[in-house]
Amino acid sequence: MMRVAIVGAGPSGMYVAEALLKADPTCEVTLIERLVSPYGLLRGGVAPDHQKMKGVATYYERIMTQFGARCHYMGNVPVGQGVTLQDLRAWFDAVVVATGASEDRALGIEGESMPGIWPATRFVSWVNGHPDGKDTVFDWSTARHVVVIGQGNVAVDVVRLLAKPVSALRATDIPEDRLTALAGNHTTTLSLIGRRGPVQAAFTELELQELGHIPGVSLRFHDPDFELGKACMEELDHPDANKARKNWAALHALRQAPPVDAHQRTLSIRFFESPVAFVGTDRVTGVVLERNQLQGPAGQQKAIGTGVKQVIPADMVFKSVGYRSVPLPGCPFSPTTHTVPHQQGQVFDLEGQPVPGLFVAGWAKRGPSGVLGTNKPCGAETARTLLAASLPSVGRQTDAFKEWVTQQGIRWVSFDEWKQIDEQEVARGQALGKPREKWVDPDDMIRALS
Ligand code: NAP
Repeated sequence: MMRVAIVGAGPSGMYVAEALLKADPTCEVTLIERLVSPYGLLRGGVAPDHQKMKGVATYYERIMTQFGARCHYMGNVPVGQGVTLQDLRAWFDAVVVATGASEDRALGIEGESMPGIWPATRFVSWVNGHPDGKDTVFDWSTARHVVVIGQGNVAVDVVRLLAKPVSALRATDIPEDRLTALAGNHTTTLSLIGRRGPVQAAFTELELQELGHIPGVSLRFHDPDFELGKACMEELDHPDANKARKNWAALHALRQAPPVDAHQRTLSIRFFESPVAFVGTDRVTGVVLERNQLQGPAGQQKAIGTGVKQVIPADMVFKSVGYRSVPLPGCPFSPTTHTVPHQQGQVFDLEGQPVPGLFVAGWAKRGPSGVLGTNKPCGAETARTLLAASLPSVGRQTDAFKEWVTQQGIRWVSFDEWKQIDEQEVARGQALGKPREKWVDPDDMIRALS
């Protein structure tokens, strides 16, 4: 029997587990997760007003339960603290690193550390009741102008959640204390800033269309942004440019929409602008934006500053320019790509040698892009490589491992225990007319078990 530890029970870890357990009926998998709760970004990253998407949890739950004693869950075990990757490699025949990308990318511009400037990832954690956002406090009282830098779907999630009236968020699983805080959000203008043009924007059609249906929100565009150059026209005509064509059509529909009655907020979608500095003394008051033009052949166009700058007011800024993986101690990590070097999921060291029994999947493997489902083929590839590696057995037992973890003073949480927490959260939510009321603090989850 092959025994595999998967570090991280987010979507990528779940799909590796599924692929291994389905492909090899003798394989046993233990998902080891730093949080008490499983499912990673599905619970802590997918926007809380996208509850239909959160329903994928039912699928993951089936993975956890349908293989009986061949699938184990150990939550509340942060690998690297108490239990190391080396320990796991000694206890298991193979280890898969599926730790995702938990950090935000920085802009590297003047004034970036000023109060009022936040990584979008922090807002996402906070609004989703993720323990990483437990102690975060946003001061909405003075925020009238909010600027979101970047035009990926995370940026769109942030502007949409801040543009919506709190009444439209009550039936989500945003924790009550966060809803109370959002009731104090009196933002009047939101700006979504992209460094390139409408053809290159990273967001997708459905997410864009949603912005046109927010009660009381008027959208604003800058007409010259839609005058396309030759290379942009070529990009739009490319057979693989489905996403860009859909975005282009959706943007046109939004531009032609009739003005909103009872206008409360303005959402300005701006292209061809890069932040070059932040303005403010004790906290941010504005963003210096430089107008860009695109240079390079179709498909590889880069934003180049024109030197033309303007300052827009900003009481609060969210930087949403992508996530970044962090190294797991003991696991090779490329400082240039910020991913784990690999071939088809087999980890390689920085000298180019395969590391026996060590594998990688998800964002730690391919970088922070793609939707939840992208992890399925990615996980299947890693599982195939692992099963083809004919690894020797280390001859140890999972029950003995669990006992050893307990001896290290770690209060790990089993899947049955997670289900108890899950059911209690759902019951707490029902009482409030929402899908669930989350516990944000892991200690509260553990207390709920007793
Ligand atoms: P993303 O899709 O990679 O978007 C990053 C954005 O940041 C791009 O607009 C990029 O512009 C911009 N950017 C990067 N560096 C910049 C800089 N120095 N200055 C200004 N702008 C800069 O990342 P994400 O939004 O974090 O999303 C991560 C992944 O999760 C994506 O695959 C996304 O689709 C997925 N996701 C999906 C959903 C959903 O399906 N609803 C929701 C959330 C996230 P350039 O294009 O010019 O580089």
